[in-house]
Amino acid sequence: MTKRIIYGPILSRRLGRSLGIDVIKTSDTKKNCNFDCVYCQLGHVLKKITGTNDVKGTVTPEEVIEDLRCYHKNIEDLEYITFSGTCEPTLNPELGEMIRGIKKISSHPVCVITNSSLVDKEKIRENLSEADLVVATLVSGYEETFMAINRPADGIILENIINGLKEIKKMDKRPILGIEVMLVDSNIDFPVNHTEREIEKLKETLIEIDPDEIEILTVSRPPAENYIIPVPEDRLKEIATEFEKVFGKERVKLVLKGIKRSRSKMKHVNIEEEIYDLIMRRPCTFKQISVSLGINDKELKVIIDRFLSSKSIKEITAGEKKYYKINR
Ligand code: SF4
Repeated sequence: MTKRIIYGPILSRRLGRSLGIDVIKTSDTKKNCNFDCVYCQLGHVLKKITGTNDVKGTVTPEEVIEDLRCYHKNIEDLEYITFSGTCEPTLNPELGEMIRGIKKISSHPVCVITNSSLVDKEKIRENLSEADLVVATLVSGYEETFMAINRPADGIILENIINGLKEIKKMDKRPILGIEVMLVDSNIDFPVNHTEREIEKLKETLIEIDPDEIEILTVSRPPAENYIIPVPEDRLKEIATEFEKVFGKERVKLVLKGIKRSRSKMKHVNIEEEIYDLIMRRPCTFKQISVSLGINDKELKVIIDRFLSSKSIKEITAGEKKYYKINR
């Protein structure tokens, strides 16, 4: 099955019902990223991308607009259009033009979810300035913890990322800047980022960046490394309270569990492809697929069973939940 540019909608705690756009087309289903995060839900990266020139198969603004034109009107209750997926969106140098094109054909707000790796580059910040919302990841204020958790490609350093995020806040025309603080725990001796020392440094760093929103969350899907586990809920609540004291309640959001939503009101063009495209970008439970794509349980079960018997997807267990994941 070929990979399509548009997928979802997915249900996001921050964005509600959000249609995803992947900015790279590849014949395979591997992720294309300049990080190899220990918590990544897409598994390991085979070869880290070193920069925008190293990316093969980027989609063009015309391709995005053409696909979106056919697709987004099928979803009545869409809330956001989001660049994310199997590739770090800022690796596509035409991201800004894509967002401008989307705004001509759709009134939905546009979000870019980024790993922050390239925000030190002016051109990348210009591209991001076209979005309504940028959600940028930050795992630590310490270089060594960032290296251990995000495992970036050579040449990417935290100091530059922090400076780039600060620059976004200074732009005349800028998106809302949200920082996603992904906290991880471990069952081995690993430099986790929820200790007192780490949280103090994160607070200092976030004061410097001064984002509009801070989202605190932990691993909720099967991570790339099996020694990574979620931070306990009590600890997350303590950290959120500490952050609220510094940044105010309205700026801090603690993300604990999935959101409850009704089934999507969506006209289907090719249900099998829609399911496969969604699972490729994020492992999902049965319920998540059925609610995100608005498919009844009976019909979904038939398709999932077919995918499982053809081995195009597999079933994995994380915590108490069963997820379906692409067989990469
Ligand atoms: S979590 Fe995101 S940034 Fe990290 S390796 Fe996976 S796709 Fe890349």
